[in-house]
Amino acid sequence: MSQTSPTAQPQDSSPFARLAGQRQVASFLTQAVQTRQISHAYMFTGPIGSSKTDTAIALAKAVLCKDGGCGSCDDCIRVSRRSHPDFHIVEPEGASSYLIEQIHELIHDAALAPMRSRRKVYLLTRADMLRGAAANALLKTLEEPPASVVFILLARTLESVMETIVSRCQVVAFRYIPEVEAIQALIDQTGTTEKEARIALAASGGSLTGAREYLGSNARRDLRLKVLGAIEGLPDGDELDALQAARELTVLLSAPLDELIIEQERQLAEGADFLSKGALTALEQRQKRVRTARERERIAETLNVLRSWLRDVLLAGIGRGDDIVNSDFSYNISRCAAHSDAAGLARALLATDAAQERIAYNVSVQSTLESLLLSMQRELKPELKQPSR
Ligand SMILES: [Zn+2]
Repeated sequence: MSQTSPTAQPQDSSPFARLAGQRQVASFLTQAVQTRQISHAYMFTGPIGSSKTDTAIALAKAVLCKDGGCGSCDDCIRVSRRSHPDFHIVEPEGASSYLIEQIHELIHDAALAPMRSRRKVYLLTRADMLRGAAANALLKTLEEPPASVVFILLARTLESVMETIVSRCQVVAFRYIPEVEAIQALIDQTGTTEKEARIALAASGGSLTGAREYLGSNARRDLRLKVLGAIEGLPDGDELDALQAARELTVLLSAPLDELIIEQERQLAEGADFLSKGALTALEQRQKRVRTARERERIAETLNVLRSWLRDVLLAGIGRGDDIVNSDFSYNISRCAAHSDAAGLARALLATDAAQERIAYNVSVQSTLESLLLSMQRELKPELKQPSR
């Protein structure tokens, strides 16, 4: 990647001006846009929470907006809302990889002319999940895409992506953004408090995009409160109570995703103005897949919340109660800290990872949560444990 050049500092009007903690990336992409040297395929690599998604959205605006990403025109607004017909976000539909049908659909779509803009942007959110036949199918298009197409692929590390994919992309490396910077960026972008910013980041596993969505979503905030409410009684209850809590959480997770459905209906109504019947059907199918993915996200979020709570109990246990994230549950956290030990809490944290794996292998949500809450209860209930101190 090129070094910071004084001529390419993003101006306030640049779509890259407000990116958190990635000045070098911002100036590199600003220069590419200003000199009209946008590559046909980018690979953004960097850890979770390094603004890759935000940057990809900014680049999509720069490509699709007539004014290089002004931020206020109809094209820019549609990109922000993810409803621009020439901006496609492609997430893996398999539990651990992209499906070959998805890639075939993408290749077919990429060959069609743009609908609103002069170009089209495809954002593939998990380049590490491009494997096997799906990856091979994409290679040729990635190497020589139709002239109007720009690909943006995201991955946490370069090593996790097949070399044949990497070699066809311009790699842009993102730096790790320390937690204090991420918290400050969230406060600057949303006007939230430090306390809420920390909660949002924890619930989103450290992702800035996810944290911003969390802050704007009553449903997600509500989910966190209910998850933490559900485990509040674990130390006092018995196994039946733990199973009951798991059942309640399962119902909560499968509840209709009201906010998403309203947004999708709005997108369909908007699309009805200019999309063909076939394109509308395709949009509906895509929306259905998005709902499935969102359900998976809610489970991942539940596990993030449980992890941050367990880390809080660990912190409280070593006298760092002032540093806990979930301070609205501090009474329960210090009570649990008094009855548990670091080894047990570490085992409970491992149980959350195991739960994540089970979900990836399509084990039912309810049985996954049941076994997780039972393990957590064992570690939090002193009389169920071997004496260890
Ligand atoms: Zn614009």
